[in-house]
Amino acid sequence: MRIAVCPGSFDPVTNGHVDIFERASAIFDEVVIGVFHNPNKKPMFTMEQRVELLKESTKHIKNIRVDAFSGLLNEYVKQQHSNVIIRGLRATKDFEYEFQRALLIKKIDAEIETVFMMTSSEYSFLSSSGIKELAKFNGNIKGLVPECVEIKIKQCMNEHSYNI
Ligand code: ADP
Repeated sequence: MRIAVCPGSFDPVTNGHVDIFERASAIFDEVVIGVFHNPNKKPMFTMEQRVELLKESTKHIKNIRVDAFSGLLNEYVKQQHSNVIIRGLRATKDFEYEFQRALLIKKIDAEIETVFMMTSSEYSFLSSSGIKELAKFNGNIKGLVPECVEIKIKQCMNEHSYNI
């Protein structure tokens, strides 16, 4: 059984992420979405909210599982009985960061492979931070994120409980 891990902060999940999940789940027997806290990013949604939104957004994909983790990614991947990390690539600006990350993980554990999937052209401009920026200024995010994310963001804006 080939299991792959898609790690990320998914704050929030976008249609670009869902596209990668759909394509990865067509290649692997099981895909585990590993949600983690990225210390370099200030989250809009709590870990629990992000996991819930991911579950709702991927319920149409049968061989996908959503999980939260902290600690070292290579150890988490092994715990999931996997040796494959899937990352999405958008513009060249992603490349340097991802290249460095992949080499670092390879250095720590040579058995783990990072596999890159190129974004679909219609999502190449899409990022969680872009969504947060749009939401902050009340921009239209329809079609850029799953419907449950759109609803959740609207709720947060109305309650003024957002933390962007
Ligand atoms: P991280 O905090 O690890 O960068 P993100 O949630 O921002 O996590 O992204 C998770 C993964 O999804 C990363 O590999 C990122 O490059 C990829 N990704 C984000 N947006 C897109 C998109 N629009 N198309 C393809 N891949 C994407």
